[in-house]
Amino acid sequence: MQMFLRVWVYAGRYPAFAAGTLACAILTTLAAMVFPKATGLLVDAASKPETAGNLMPYVIVVAASFLLSDLFNSLRILLNNTFEQNVIVDLRQDLYESLQRLPLHWYDNRATGDLMTRVTDDVTSLERMLIDGIEQGVVAVLQIVGVGVVLCWISPGLFAWMLVPIVFMALGAWLFTITAHKRYKASREAASSMNSLLHDNLQGIRQIKSYAREDAEAERFAHQSNEVRRTTLSVMRAWAIYSPGMSFIGSLGFLLVLLIGGQDVASGRFSPGNLVTFLLYTSMFYEPIRRLHQLNQLFQAGRAAGGRVFEIMDATRERYAPLQITAPQEIAPKDAPPLSNVTGEVEYRKVSFHYRPDQPILQGVSFRIPAGTSLALVGPSGAGKTTIASLLPRFYEMTGGSILLDGRDIREPALQDLRSHIGVVTQESFLFNGTLLDNLRFGKRDATMAEIEAATRAAHAHDFVATWPDGYDTRVGERGVKLSIGEKQRVSIARALLKNPPVLILDEATASVDTATERLIQDALDHLLAGRTSLIIAHRLSTIRNADQIAVIRIGAIAELGTHDELLALNGLYSKLCRIQQGDIIRDEQLEQVFEP
Ligand code: ADP
Repeated sequence: MQMFLRVWVYAGRYPAFAAGTLACAILTTLAAMVFPKATGLLVDAASKPETAGNLMPYVIVVAASFLLSDLFNSLRILLNNTFEQNVIVDLRQDLYESLQRLPLHWYDNRATGDLMTRVTDDVTSLERMLIDGIEQGVVAVLQIVGVGVVLCWISPGLFAWMLVPIVFMALGAWLFTITAHKRYKASREAASSMNSLLHDNLQGIRQIKSYAREDAEAERFAHQSNEVRRTTLSVMRAWAIYSPGMSFIGSLGFLLVLLIGGQDVASGRFSPGNLVTFLLYTSMFYEPIRRLHQLNQLFQAGRAAGGRVFEIMDATRERYAPLQITAPQEIAPKDAPPLSNVTGEVEYRKVSFHYRPDQPILQGVSFRIPAGTSLALVGPSGAGKTTIASLLPRFYEMTGGSILLDGRDIREPALQDLRSHIGVVTQESFLFNGTLLDNLRFGKRDATMAEIEAATRAAHAHDFVATWPDGYDTRVGERGVKLSIGEKQRVSIARALLKNPPVLILDEATASVDTATERLIQDALDHLLAGRTSLIIAHRLSTIRNADQIAVIRIGAIAELGTHDELLALNGLYSKLCRIQQGDIIRDEQLEQVFEP
């Protein structure tokens, strides 16, 4: 019920549509109710010789009843669909906004295909429950009451007989309702799992091909697809019993009327016309009951979908993340004084963090990066380098200690404000499926062509873009598949240059590209890093050597911190790494050799 009220708020935004739809539905029903009465009168008139020759007026009334009923129905469909689409757009928009504001750790445990199913299918299902529910529900109830009154007026005795099957119908509806939710939920979840697998496999199609896993994956998909069939059939089986069962019980009511009403006609208590009228109204009485059953089905499907939609809307949004500096509540972004003239000094003070409470990842991490200088993080895979870097833009919330930007706790300013001062260049450069220009403007929405060209030139991207027939309007494909790794990296560097943040997080790429490209990328990076405070997850000896400070990370803590020369003099892990290192890129095996106890 609570869910129904929540969705109702969305429909409440369009009172005119709601009222119009409802009015049309009621008028449709009222117009249709004229037909049985007129038909009954026609039958009676036809059976009397004095009126048998003048049946035309009845026929005209019946025709008008049909015409008006269908006319109002057409208008209702038009209004109802506009109403539906408006509500869907609102719901979907709110859901999408909620999704965007959820913290990254929330996404760590969710599959994209599942979320997509919620935004597309579940929203539609929820909305149908609402709008069709209100409209058809109200009309059906009105029709039952209206026709019931007419029936009772024609013959209270016959009407009483008609009510007998209603008791059984109510029992059937109750049985269906209490068992339906589980089935619908299972069906929604199976559809979601299938979509998740599909999404995952399409994303990983290159891996599937290169590992020749086509058959195995097809089997996995067939299994999921089968689950959808099984759960859908379970829903359908229940419906196949419920719906015709209820219809049959309704027919028994009709039969009772036929039997008892027939006797009444035989004994002269009832005219044949009256019986025809009564029978036609009887079917008009049971028909909305059938619709109510259908609605019940819609309602159960909507409930299952609604749970999945509101789970997202109710999840804790990013800005509500725990904030322990002044008070445990959120500091509303609007109230937070904005960051201004950021020079880029970054300081970590005894920072600790865990993804799961029972598994501490970082413990007491402290360092200071003076504005405009760089710090390279070095350490074996899984030591916590990425995690350390992710805490600065608050992709994850630190669980202890504090991080300061220009002396201010990063939990003070609004999130978007903080992030607008930090650039992130990752190993795998993600490009959106649009034109190159769209992707570059991600860095600065209103960048002029001159600015864009300056950035791409500095990132050594302009030259290859200039050789493409469509230049900056070239579509890059999903995740930028149409670009080489080296090209993608340079585009993402240009994008970061356009953003021009004072602080930069760089996860250095380890993918091998040819030496000439390597040099271009290195030069592009030098442009990007110049004058910025940078936190570099380093995988190359040359980068580490050039950094102003080096932090050696081991099991979530800083083992050594200093300049290249200082660390060499320390004769610890770093100096050992330098001694055994061959070539520029530091491989995992070498790190393991150094860090193995
Ligand atoms: P590095 O960058 O040094 O390779 P990470 O910071 O990625 O290390 O990971 C540190 C530890 O945190 C690892 O044990 C890893 O398994 C764990 N970890 C990383 N990301 C997540 C996540 N999103 N959820 C749970 N655990 C994670």
